[in-house]
Amino acid sequence: MSCPNAKHGCKEKISYTDRKHEEKCIYVLCDCPLSGCDFAASSEVLSNHFRHKHGDSQIKFSYGYSFTVSLNSNDEIIVLQEEYDGKLFILNNRSMLLGNAVNLCCIGPNSSESDYSYDILATSQICKLKLQSFMKNVQQVPLATLSSELLVIPFPFGSEPLKLDICITPRVPPISFSMLWFFPQLKFFFLYCSILSYSSVFQMPNKGC
Ligand SMILES: [Zn+2]
Ligand SMILES: [Zn+2]
Repeated sequence: MSCPNAKHGCKEKISYTDRKHEEKCIYVLCDCPLSGCDFAASSEVLSNHFRHKHGDSQIKFSYGYSFTVSLNSNDEIIVLQEEYDGKLFILNNRSMLLGNAVNLCCIGPNSSESDYSYDILATSQICKLKLQSFMKNVQQVPLATLSSELLVIPFPFGSEPLKLDICITPRVPPISFSMLWFFPQLKFFFLYCSILSYSSVFQMPNKGC
């Protein structure tokens, strides 16, 4: 049978028993995260829509580099857009009894595997709180608030917005051990890469996160 997103351009045929394609179908509709805009499209088309229609409404960032977001207590969401691939992410903020709870979600197909990891660091005068987690994909903003991974920030928001240091990193697909068995020279290549990245951590302690 056809994919449920056939009307949006997907040409994939799926069987009744194997529904894996539906989880990662890139044609699934995602809603524009800005309230008042009713645009919905695939995550790729939505990225272009956001860049062209709401150019001032997002914070731009690059993968692997820490950036700072100023959050007011009444900001419900802040949209983040990656400079190069245009991927959209949502920083959620909701008030709770104990303080404010924040987390990040990615706008995209409802895959069970997360494609991104992230850090959020909140700093007050007396302490630092950090959440390191993997990102869930959502197609609508309300779904993002249901995530159970949250950083609860008990510091009172004063007149100053809260500064959050955020870093988003794509997850590299795991290396299959069978590949290493068949291609022994790869072991040396990966060992070499590991040494390079290990030494770069010590040479550039402030770069990345
Ligand atoms: Zn599909
Ligand atoms: Zn829009």
